[in-house]
This record gives sequence, structure tokens and C-alpha cells, in this order.
Amino acid sequence: MIQLLPKPLTGSGPFILLITACLMNCTSTKELMPMTESDILAFHQQILTIDTHVDTPLRLKYEGIDLSQHHDPHAYNSKLDFPRMAQGGLDAVFFAIWTPQGARTDSGHSAIKRHALEMLDLTESTINNLPQFAEIATNSQDASRLHEEGKHAIYLGLENGYPIGTDLQNIDLFYKRGIRYITLCHMTNNDICDSSNDTTEYAGLSPFGVELIKRMNQLGMMVDISHTSEATVAQAVAISRAPVIASHSCSKALRDSPRNLSDSLLTSIAAKGGVVQMCLLSDYITPDPPQDVRDSARAALKQKWKGIDRHTAANREAYRLEWSELNRNYPRELPSVSDAVDHIDHMVNLVGIDHVGIGTDFDGGAALSDCYDVSELPNITIELFKRGYSKSDIRKIWSGNLLRVFAEVERVASAQ
Ligand SMILES: [Zn+2]
Repeated sequence: MIQLLPKPLTGSGPFILLITACLMNCTSTKELMPMTESDILAFHQQILTIDTHVDTPLRLKYEGIDLSQHHDPHAYNSKLDFPRMAQGGLDAVFFAIWTPQGARTDSGHSAIKRHALEMLDLTESTINNLPQFAEIATNSQDASRLHEEGKHAIYLGLENGYPIGTDLQNIDLFYKRGIRYITLCHMTNNDICDSSNDTTEYAGLSPFGVELIKRMNQLGMMVDISHTSEATVAQAVAISRAPVIASHSCSKALRDSPRNLSDSLLTSIAAKGGVVQMCLLSDYITPDPPQDVRDSARAALKQKWKGIDRHTAANREAYRLEWSELNRNYPRELPSVSDAVDHIDHMVNLVGIDHVGIGTDFDGGAALSDCYDVSELPNITIELFKRGYSKSDIRKIWSGNLLRVFAEVERVASAQ
């Protein structure tokens, strides 16, 4: 079992944190506010916290993880279960129903739609069989309601719109099944839009993608622009009648990854009232320090499985296992919570406190040296206090901003 707080911030014993000035140019945090570590942990446990992106359904499917049991993340390929959510004060979470991408044909679309529905069945039955721990949540009020009832809220998102195919009716089907955001694409283009990791096909959204966003607005589903190309983000922000979210993305100014958001896109998302949820995936936070042997092994593996998103399911699984083994053999030095919170600082300085949240990507590859799984999430709150964020700021980051956007998406849908 790992320690909840492996790195005391100051000296030995309980530390006193004096917040004497606000680093963010906001008046709310200019008061002198002594906080002990136990004060901060108690505050973290008391507030409503939401993580907008974890890939736990994959761990249910491939490792058969029992969410009612505590797992050591170093022994199991698992970063989230209910005992560790309680330990880390994580109240609500969006489980991503992620789908790999195959052929963009009718048969490819039907096969992946079946797969997504099976993943939904598995997730739904898992949660419904553990009613003492959690419930499936479907609206912006459920997180608070379930928090008060002492249960975790499990929201559902669809990561990759590929299972929608080219049929708008599938959006309604997934909405009925509880999906409340759709990440428009993953690492390759689909029939909706261009991906940030693929070549230009539509120069943004396809005509079908435009219709998809209109339908999502009508139903009250959040449009998630993580993984999409810059042109797609700009067009989605312009077309959507409700604010958009980035369920798991960081700042491109701090880490130049195609998956991160430029200052101009962060500004336009915020200008329309949206929110960007900072991701804890190492490669989006700091550059991977070069390691010759590992880098050439990675290059060889990528060459061997070139165009993997278009391979068969069996090949994609073989690639996933080989990639995991390579990373086990050549682990990278993990960034820290401080490195991650640099991204929050940058975004807050750029667009203000109302447009930033947290979407970890745990169970999808995320890990920090001092926040390795959900049990260590309080370390983020400690770092935020250390940097001068107020309690009100931290509440916004942990859930207030996302719930404001979610409620606005619902309001736009109901105002048709
Ligand atoms: Zn992702």
C-alpha cells in the first residue's frame, strides 16, 4: 500500500502553511490563512471533487478489477477502486467508455457500436451490483446528491465518437444509456472530425460532425474537445450553443504536445464559458527525458505496428501489451504534482479561475511521482493551497467549474 502523503511539505510533524498573498491576482485569497496539513486534508475530504476522465472500464474488462476491494497500484494495473476513492477524497468520476478505431465502414461502425454497448453493460452492471458504494449519475445535480448520501457518483463519457458512425440516431441511443459527454475523436480521424494526432482530412469538423454537435446541444450532452485537432476545437467552440469541455488536456505553452491546448484555444474555450480539465498523463505535463535505449525500442515498436489504430482488434491488443511491457522495462522519470499544478497556474493566469478543472486519465496511463493513483489526489489540494489558491478557488477547480458547464449544457438543451 502506498502512503497517502509521501512528501511532507515542510520539516517533520504537522506543517503550518501561511498563505500571505495571492499568486493569481485575485482578491479572494489575500487574507492570512494558517492551514495545517490536517486542516487541508479535512477540507479536501469535505468538498465535492470530480475527476472527468478515467479509463477504469478498461480495467474492468481486461483485468477484472473488483472495485469494492483495495488494490496496490504497483502490484495491479489499477489506479482506482472505491476504497482508494474514499482515501483520496474523490467523490465523483466520469468513466470513459473508450473505443479503439477500426475501419470507417458500415461493418466497422456496427462492430464498434456493439463493443461500446458491451463496455456500457459491463460498467453499468458493475456499479449496480455495488449500490453501497456508488450509483450511475446522469445529471449535474447527482454529484452533490450522492455526495450527501455518502456514495460515489459514476458518470459516463464516450471517448471517441467512432461508435456513432455516421448515424445521428446513435447519439440518442448513447444518451439514453447514460453517456453525458462525447470526446469527438481519439488518436485518428473519424467521420466526425480531425484528430490532433492525425493528418488533416476535413480541416476541422466534417459536415456530419457539425450535425452531431447540434444534436448533442439538443440532448444536453457535453462536447469534449480533448484529442481533437486545433481546427476542430476552434470550430466546435464556435458551433456549439453550449460551452465545451476538454475532459483531459494540458497547456501547450508549457508542454508542446499535439494533445495539449494552445493559449489561443484556451482563451476561446473560456470566452464561451467552457472548462479545461488538467490531465495527469506524464507526457502531457513535461517532456519525456531522452533515454537512448528506450527511445530506439519505442521507435522500433511504433514502426512494427505502424497505423495500429487501423489494425485488427487482436493486433491492437498485442501492441498494447508490448507497449506496456516496454514501459515497464524502461520506466520514465515521472513528473510531480508541482509540475502538473504549473499547468493549472498557467491556465488560471491566462483565462481566470472559472475555466480550469481536473481530469486525471488514471487507468489510461496517468501517474505522477507523488500522485500515482486516486488515493493521492489530496496532494494536488495541498499544492494548490501552497501556491495561494483560496478555498473558493479550490472548490471551483475540483468540481464547481465543471458542474457550472454541465448545468449550462442542460439549460441550453431544455431551452429548445
Ligand atoms: Zn484520452
